[in-house]
Amino acid sequence: MTISGIGLHTGKQSTVRFHPAEGPVRFRMGRLEFRPLASAVVDTLRCTVMGYHDLRLMTVEHLLSALFIRGIWEGLVIEVTGPEIPILDGSAREWLAVLQDFPAPAPQPQLLQGTTRIEEGRSSVLAQPAEVFSLTATILFPHPKIGYQQVQCPPTSLVELASARTFGFLKEAEAMRAQGLIKGASLENALVFSEHDFASTPRMLHEPVWHKALDFLGDLYLAGRPYQGRFVVHRGSHRLHVELAKLLQS
Ligand SMILES: [Zn+2]
Repeated sequence: MTISGIGLHTGKQSTVRFHPAEGPVRFRMGRLEFRPLASAVVDTLRCTVMGYHDLRLMTVEHLLSALFIRGIWEGLVIEVTGPEIPILDGSAREWLAVLQDFPAPAPQPQLLQGTTRIEEGRSSVLAQPAEVFSLTATILFPHPKIGYQQVQCPPTSLVELASARTFGFLKEAEAMRAQGLIKGASLENALVFSEHDFASTPRMLHEPVWHKALDFLGDLYLAGRPYQGRFVVHRGSHRLHVELAKLLQS
């Protein structure tokens, strides 16, 4: 199974190949192999970046969210050629499709031992013990087409989240390009907002918060194993998500 495409930030072509292999899920870049763990995250500013020695691998979160949704924690090597996981259509839909038939032995989820809450300004993530897995995510943007949005899973299924695309604002695009970011962004692979309206066509109602929830799952995957509990994310960021994954990992 091979998928190629350009990276959202670098705009560079990358190829991802999936190889069945014994042991925990890991990335392979050249001769190096490393596990997708929060302890190996080196940057979370605009995407989640893994680092191993001199290697950098950007924008791992959508592929990891597909692994989370499919429950794949074992038996897979993900070989990457290039600096960034391809953005594809901006969501996790294609990753989910390619991993659909991968035989995943369902691991026993770890019960959360206590409540963990991390805050930063008006953002927070909460993880607390519960009998079943659930996720609530909210966002708040002072934009007429966004405002306050919330998603709860269940009843929304994690699979449904997979089609929600990355989102961004036209007014921030120029500054981000000046920083060498979003060179691969387009009106197709991102839900883009102009000052007062949509600049690209939304796929679904509340696509931004659905994508935020998807990003959270990808970052939570970096805890290294599935956890059973109730997760609540208000105005999440990769930084906060990865902080939680780090605490769970340790
Ligand atoms: Zn994302």
